[in-house]
Amino acid sequence: MDTHIATGRSLAGPRTVYTAEHEMFRDQVRRFFEKHIVPHHRQWERDGIVPRALWLEAGAAGLLCPMLAEEYGGAGTDFGYSAIIIEEIARTNCSGPGFPLHSDIVVPYVADLATQARRAEWLPRMARGELIGAIAMTEPGMGSDLKAVRTTARREGGDYVINGSKTFISNGQNAGLVIVVAKTDPAAGRKGISLICVEDGTPGFTRGRNLEKIGLHAQDTSELFFDDVRVPVANLLGEENRGFSYLIRNLPQERLVIAIRAATSMETMLELTVAYTKGREAFGQPIIDFQHNRFKLADAKAQSTMFRVFADHCLALHLRGELTVELAATAKLLGAEMQNKLLDDFLQLHGGYGYIAEYAIGRAWADARVGRIYGGSSEIMREIIGRTL
Ligand SMILES: Cc1cc2nc3c(=O)[nH]c(=O)nc-3n(C[C@H](O)[C@H](O)[C@H](O)COP(=O)(O)OP(=O)(O)OC[C@H]3O[C@@H](n4cnc5c(N)ncnc54)[C@H](O)[C@@H]3O)c2cc1C
Repeated sequence: MDTHIATGRSLAGPRTVYTAEHEMFRDQVRRFFEKHIVPHHRQWERDGIVPRALWLEAGAAGLLCPMLAEEYGGAGTDFGYSAIIIEEIARTNCSGPGFPLHSDIVVPYVADLATQARRAEWLPRMARGELIGAIAMTEPGMGSDLKAVRTTARREGGDYVINGSKTFISNGQNAGLVIVVAKTDPAAGRKGISLICVEDGTPGFTRGRNLEKIGLHAQDTSELFFDDVRVPVANLLGEENRGFSYLIRNLPQERLVIAIRAATSMETMLELTVAYTKGREAFGQPIIDFQHNRFKLADAKAQSTMFRVFADHCLALHLRGELTVELAATAKLLGAEMQNKLLDDFLQLHGGYGYIAEYAIGRAWADARVGRIYGGSSEIMREIIGRTL
């Protein structure tokens, strides 16, 4: 079944965004997924988490932190290698491993903004999968409006003392290093926010429940609590009170991750649904032969073909360091909305089987729903785009 999906070719023809080296890496990633992830993923969905041992295996196989400099144990490559891992996650429908969050969202903050000593201490362990990263922005009373964060970090001598609680934090149970978004100057709004790292085992830092979700069942998503958590000032990322601008700078890459995943999910599920509708008969004919269904699939093919071209364009811009906040928001908005619409149509074409978790389409449909919410909701993406009008 897997002919063109997320390889050197797409429904729109050859993909020019990847080099031969990228494609060789894809083969390696694909082998890793088929051996270490696909056979176990259903169990991890029941467990609500992927085992830490998988992170060590992924680290040893070079699947973590591809962009990280070689001196810290990374491969020193470009975001294209990360994009390939994201595409394999979507293609295999294995949403559990939180590798993109770790490698493409958390590690870049540490690599760009931590002190030299902290980089040397943490990054090699992050590349090996020994130290798993998370980023804690959202709080029980605040998500979209980041500047309203209520967690505080008070300076006391050479330490920060952190108080507050976070929720919906991906990798929350497995994480050994959490970047906490906290107010260091509560009166200063967005200009009073800082990013501070908290390590597992620091007194006062506790984890709440691994939250039960309607999708992404193998991903650990948690509440985190900070009760007079004392960390050295050296755990600050970058400069005090500049956290908001660091977040704004890095969010386009997070949004591109979601868009790339959407593009591959649509292509994969389209192919699967075409095969299903050719094999399933009703009223004496394959259900794809009903014009209504064939037109649905034709529309889906046209839309996912168009979105792939746009996602590749955004990826190419990002590889050149030219992806704007606005374009990343556009890709995230369109990708997540289109993916939700198409996967819902695909599920419908599966009839009752679409609603059964054994079938990939139902799981992909449930996993996709959060794409319209996290990484900035669709409404926030429209706000960002709207401001440019
Ligand atoms: C599975 C999962 C994983 C997550 N992982 C992480 C993580 O790792 N780290 C982290 O920090 N957070 C994470 N989140 C949190 C996620 O980023 C937030 O849920 C999201 O930003 C929305 O915030 P909220 O839930 O507080 O919704 P709210 O901000 O309360 O929004 C509620 C509704 O109001 C709308 N709304 C808000 N403001 C506006 C506006 N200005 N105009 C129009 N509509 C508006 C929203 O679009 C939404 O529809 C995760 C969430 C989930 C579900």
